[in-house]
Amino acid sequence: MRSHRIHKGWKAKLKAVVPFGLGQIKPKHVRGIAETVWKNRDNLPYAWKVLSRGVCDGCALGVAGFHDWTITGIHLCMTRLNLLRLNTMPALDPRLLENVSKLQLLDNAQLRELGRLPCPLLRERNAPGFRRISWDEGCRRIAVKIRAIEPRRLAFYLTARGLTNEVYYLAQKVARFLGTNNVDNAARLCHSPSTAAMKHALGVAATTCSYKDWYGAALVIFFGANPANDQPVATKYLLEAKKLGTKVVLVNPYREPGMERYWVPSNFSSAIFGTDIADYWFPVSIGGDVAFLYGVLKILVQQDWVDHEFIAKHTAGFDDLRLQISNFKFEQLEARSGLSRESMREFAELIRDAQTAVLVWSMGITQHAFGGDSVQMILNLGLTKGFVGRDKCGLMPIRGHSSVQGGAEMGAYATAFPGGKPVSPENAAALSAIYGFKVPDWIGLTAPEMVEACARGGLDLLYCLGGNFLRTLPEPEFVSRALANVPMRVHQDIILTDQMFIAAKEEVILLPAKTRYEQDDGGTETSTERRIMFSPQIQRQVGEARAEWKIVREIAAAAYPERAHLLGCESGWKLRQEMARVVPFYDGVENLKQTGDAFQYGGRHLCAGWKFPTADGRAHAGGRGRCPERAGRRHRISAAAR
Ligand code: SF4
Repeated sequence: MRSHRIHKGWKAKLKAVVPFGLGQIKPKHVRGIAETVWKNRDNLPYAWKVLSRGVCDGCALGVAGFHDWTITGIHLCMTRLNLLRLNTMPALDPRLLENVSKLQLLDNAQLRELGRLPCPLLRERNAPGFRRISWDEGCRRIAVKIRAIEPRRLAFYLTARGLTNEVYYLAQKVARFLGTNNVDNAARLCHSPSTAAMKHALGVAATTCSYKDWYGAALVIFFGANPANDQPVATKYLLEAKKLGTKVVLVNPYREPGMERYWVPSNFSSAIFGTDIADYWFPVSIGGDVAFLYGVLKILVQQDWVDHEFIAKHTAGFDDLRLQISNFKFEQLEARSGLSRESMREFAELIRDAQTAVLVWSMGITQHAFGGDSVQMILNLGLTKGFVGRDKCGLMPIRGHSSVQGGAEMGAYATAFPGGKPVSPENAAALSAIYGFKVPDWIGLTAPEMVEACARGGLDLLYCLGGNFLRTLPEPEFVSRALANVPMRVHQDIILTDQMFIAAKEEVILLPAKTRYEQDDGGTETSTERRIMFSPQIQRQVGEARAEWKIVREIAAAAYPERAHLLGCESGWKLRQEMARVVPFYDGVENLKQTGDAFQYGGRHLCAGWKFPTADGRAHAGGRGRCPERAGRRHRISAAAR
C-alpha cells in the first residue's frame, strides 16, 4: 500500500529551490501590498490607523493592531489588506440606485467597488430603484410595520463579518423586546453542528485549547479545513509548531496547495523558498469522514490502542460506541469513505504513537446534512486518548469570519439566549426578570427556516444586518423567490449586495451602517481561541452611516416609545457593562478600553484537568450508529444548514 506521507518527487524538490515560488501558484505578498497601498491611496492615514489600532475584521484568528497573543512578530495577511478598502472608501452617489437594472448586471465584487451606502434608501413595489429618505422616515416606516405585525412574523438575521459582540447583543435584545426569538446569525450556516455536538459531548461549545497548543503537539490534524486560505497567519503558527516537531495531517478530499507549501512572508527563509506544511494527506471522499473515522476507531479499539484509564474515569458512552463500531464492516466503511482499511490503519497508527494532538475542523465537516455526526466522530477520536483539557491537546472548530464566535454567545441565536442558554420557559423567565420585559419562550426560526418562511408567506418583515442569503445558501433561485415574497425587507449594511435588488413585495429599505472601526465607543470581537479583544473607535463619518447597535435600538424605541426606557444600553460602555452582567463568562469585557486589551474566557484550556461541565462530569462518546452514503444526494436548504 502507498503511504499517505507526503513525499516530494524530484519536480517538487526542484520547485522548492526556486526563490519566491516563481512559476508556482502562491500568494503574491509584495505585489498585494503594493496594490493595497494604491487602492487606498486617497485615505492612507486612516488605513494605517485601522491596521495599527483595530482588531482585524478578516477572520476569527484574531489580532489587535499588528500583534496577537501567539507569536512575537508581526501578524498581518492579504485577507486583511484586501478588506481594507471597505474601511477607507467614500460613499457612493445615491442617484446610482434610482434604477437598479444596470446594477443587477454587476457581481458582488463590482458592487463593493462602488462605495459605501450613503444614506437611508427606499424602494417601493414596482419602482425601478431606490429613492433617498431621511433616517426619521426610515425608522418610522419600519416601526409602524413592526407594531402592525405579529412578532412571530418578524425576523432578524446577522452576518458574521465585521459585526461586533455589541451589535449581536443589542440586536438579540431588541428582537426579544419586540416579542420574537426569530434572530439568528451566520454561525448557523457554519459551526452550529460543532456547537451542538460539543455541548452534548463536552459541555462546552467553543474551542477547548489555544493556538499555542499547536506548538510541539505530536499531531495537528485538519479535517475539512484550509487555514492557509481562510486563516492565513495560521501557517505562521504551523511553521513554529513544525520547528518543535509537530506533524501536520490533512483529512480532506482535496490536497489544498496552500496547506502543502506556503510562503510565510515574515520568515526570511520561508518568504524566499517556502515551507512544507502538511506531512500526511488522507484523501477521504466528500462526506466520507464519518465512515473513515468509524474505520479508524474500529482499528484503535481492535488493537487496544486507546487510553483505558481516561475512558473509564472521564467518559461515558464508550461501550455503546464499541457496539456501534462492531456493527460496521470494513468493506462498507471503505466504500463510504473512499479510503482503504490500510489507510485507516496508517491514520490509527499516528494516533497510537501520539501523546498529544490538536484536532481542528471546519466547513468541510460541518456543511453536510450529517455535520453533527461528523463532529461527534472527531470528538470520539479525541476522547480515545484524552486529547482535551491539557497542554498541546485540543478540540478546535476553527472559525471563519471575524466575529462569528460571539454571535451565539451573545444570544443572537434562534435557539439560545445570551450565554448560550437554550431557549426554554425557565431561561426566558430568568432573562425577563433581568430585562424587565417579557422575553418569548418559544424556539425561533433558524436562518434557513427564515428563508423557507419567506417562501410560504410566513414573514412580514425580514431585517438583515449584513449577509447575503443569495450567496450563502444553496438554491439561489429559490432564495430569490422567497425574499421577493416578504412585504418588507430591511438591509442594514455598509455596501451594496445583490440580494438588495430582489424586487420589493411592498418595500425594501437600505440603512447605511458604520464599520466596526467607526462604531461609537468601540467594540469587541471574540476569536476562535475565546479571546475577547477590544477595538477602539477610529473616528470617521461616511455619509449618514450610524452604528449598527444604535440603529436597531432606535427602531425598537420608535416602535414602542412607551417601553423604550427598558432597552437601556444608551452607550457602548453601558452596553458592555450589561453584557458582563448577563453573560458571566464575559465578565471583564466592560474593562477593555484600548488596542491590545483582551482576555481569554475559560483560560488556556476548557475542560482543564478533564473536568467536563456536563450533568455527570464526564465527556460523552457516541454517535447515531449511522454511516452516511457518499456525497451526491441533493438536500433542501433546511436540512443542509440545520
Ligand atoms: S489571519 Fe485572520 S485575523 Fe490574522 S490578519 Fe489575516 S484575516 Fe486578520
